[in-house]
Amino acid sequence: MRKQIAAANWKMNLTLQQAEQLTHELLASKRNLGANQLVVFGVPFPYLLPIKNTLQGNGNMYVAAQNCSDKKSGAYTGETSAEMLKSIGLKYVIIGHSERREYFNEDNATLAVKVDLALANDLQPIFCCGEPLSVREAETQNSYVEKQLNESLFHLSADQARYFVVAYEPIWAIGTGRTASSDQAQEMHAHIRSVFASKYGEDVANTISILYGGSVKAANAKEIFGQPDVDGGLVGGASLVADEFASIINSLK
Ligand code: PEP
Repeated sequence: MRKQIAAANWKMNLTLQQAEQLTHELLASKRNLGANQLVVFGVPFPYLLPIKNTLQGNGNMYVAAQNCSDKKSGAYTGETSAEMLKSIGLKYVIIGHSERREYFNEDNATLAVKVDLALANDLQPIFCCGEPLSVREAETQNSYVEKQLNESLFHLSADQARYFVVAYEPIWAIGTGRTASSDQAQEMHAHIRSVFASKYGEDVANTISILYGGSVKAANAKEIFGQPDVDGGLVGGASLVADEFASIINSLK
């Protein structure tokens, strides 16, 4: 069975003390994870090691960086390389979040470079894609997302593609309280999987975990995660509340 993943995206929130407290509360309230279930915390850079240490000894729980540089190393003040993330023992990095695309001008070509650097450093990308409202209203979301995958991922080999985690995050649903319906999520996830299947074959497509993101909360997680092609979620706001996120974890298939 594909990995089912509850991924938190803390974005630029919380002090270290608040982050530690949230993690402790969550550890106290979550149930044990099954062998195919993972929890990944996308935390700000300064908290990667402390939260990684707090999670130590809890099976199937990892930290992820929220971004990495598109440069290998060198005179790029303020940047953090994939190699640095590897050197602190990370396994995951979020790449291509819509906020990075929108506020930091990350285009599909730049993201392809980041994906390459992540894979070269044994980091598994959680690659975000998803359409803005205008595209959804024009009903061209399938080709929009397909282009994002094509331009950032499809230069890779089938063996590399096996390591993908894709997060489908319709921009109109992020932080808005407006969630895609479970039917809309399933429809797009099935489309993404079929695009992977045409490029890499059914076998590879069926190993790729596709997460849904966009106003997931305790109240809607079970229904969304219950869709056949939805393998968990990438969760922003609700991941900052221990009880909410614990319940979302407990909603994984
Ligand atoms: C996100 O930031 O990836 C996200 C999905 O946010 P929210 O859950 O708050 O909509």
